[in-house]
Amino acid sequence: MVNNQSNKIRTRIAPSPTGLLHIGTARTALFNYIFAKKFQGNFILRIEDTDSERSKKEYEKDIVESLDWLGIKWDECYRQSERMDIYEKYIKKLLKEDKAYYCFCTEEELEAQKQYQISIGQAACYSGKCRGLPKEEINKNLKEKKPFVVRFKISDSSKKIAFDDLIRGKIEFDSELIGDFIISKGLKKPFYNFAAAVDDFEMKISHIIRGEDHISNTPKQILIQQTLGFSQPKYAHLPLILGPDRSKLSKRHGATAISEYREKGILPETLINFMAFLGWNPGTEREIYNIVSLIKEFSLENVQKGGAVFNIKRLDYLNGFYIRQKSDKKITELCIPYLIKADFIEPIDIDCPDGVNCPETVSLFEEEKPEFKIKEGDEIIDFDYLKKIVKIYQERLRYLSEIAELTDFFFKDKLEYDKDLLQWKDMTDKEVFNTLDKLEKILSKIEVKDFNKENLEKILMLEAEKIGDRGKLLWPLRVALTGKKASAPPFEIAEILGKEKTLKRIGEAKKLIK
Ligand code: GLU
Repeated sequence: MVNNQSNKIRTRIAPSPTGLLHIGTARTALFNYIFAKKFQGNFILRIEDTDSERSKKEYEKDIVESLDWLGIKWDECYRQSERMDIYEKYIKKLLKEDKAYYCFCTEEELEAQKQYQISIGQAACYSGKCRGLPKEEINKNLKEKKPFVVRFKISDSSKKIAFDDLIRGKIEFDSELIGDFIISKGLKKPFYNFAAAVDDFEMKISHIIRGEDHISNTPKQILIQQTLGFSQPKYAHLPLILGPDRSKLSKRHGATAISEYREKGILPETLINFMAFLGWNPGTEREIYNIVSLIKEFSLENVQKGGAVFNIKRLDYLNGFYIRQKSDKKITELCIPYLIKADFIEPIDIDCPDGVNCPETVSLFEEEKPEFKIKEGDEIIDFDYLKKIVKIYQERLRYLSEIAELTDFFFKDKLEYDKDLLQWKDMTDKEVFNTLDKLEKILSKIEVKDFNKENLEKILMLEAEKIGDRGKLLWPLRVALTGKKASAPPFEIAEILGKEKTLKRIGEAKKLIK
């Protein structure tokens, strides 16, 4: 046996670029990353793109960007499509040593055979028809350019294949049930199990940590390792991620791609913390972990065998927590792309076609004082103005994209709402009009320099006390300023809008109710 196992821990994530980076793959990447880093090892990114029809560059880009955004950093990176010579070398070696063979069976033949086996209650596996083809027939077929696959030859079908899973303990398979499986289409299209086994060896992977759905692939990979004389890595199969109904997490449960969470405005630190608990727990009450503390605390012993249920409420809760930890400046920087995407504002002198993911939005903040144009009305505002707006919502934001619907009224020239919304309880139109009129009078007396939330609160609360029911004053004010039932306190909003806009909106509300 070729022993390539130094003591160094080396793990890998091996995504196929046939879709956006899935939260399940990202969770596997995280576990591999923190496990390697815990032992000062290396974490490897291997793009498994041998299926040229289904692999797409745009998915590879999404995988790379999403891992990078999560802060899961790889030490080495490989692309299987650039390693085809290596696989071919091993395929030829197996053929030469009679440990694999050419199979010329057509797809129709194989399908018919499979149907037959199923009909008589047998496991569907290859019959072995081409196993003993005479050399002359093989050569003739090759000469005629008949399409073929290469099959791995199970040498002893009575043999049991067993491995010690670090999470699940001993797992055993009958090689009889595996059958002579395909390792390559032609000589140049290696299949997953083969390319993965070769690469795990070539890349000196010490631990294979991956989803439970790959348990059935493990005996095939072990057979390949044994036949090629490779040493065997250690295996740990992580529990499946389940939706709230306990079926395997899928699209119908909601977002599954990391980029979808990113666009919604879930922070990377939230996802790291959340994903760590999809199958692992520290065995204590502690809930908040960043990537560094995970590296310190993680152990495979604390990974559960049973499915890990995805709890969206916990994700929202954690995101709210991490949003509240941000400085005013940082949270504003994070929210601005969503305001741009909603078409409320436009950065001055910067063309930003992709909104949230636009790299220009990032470089924007390198400027001392970035300025923006409010698209309705062309008013110019600066970063500090946006900071004030974002700040009053920081406490209640669950995810960043919510900022757009919560603050839209700051960016509208004219609000649209139903006049009935201005009524508090059983107030009549006349009462609402008089209240607005009173507000107009009171507020117009306050000087611009004193138009701040403290003064506004003091003055207006005094007035509200006189009326007895503060809703009668504050509700119409809130609706006039925001067009909404719920908002941040109207004093804070009035301060940000400023005296002129506040009075203009009250005037508009009066016109509406008249
Ligand atoms: N390309 C495989 C996948 O995306 C890798 C599985 C493995 O980790 O071996 O599922």
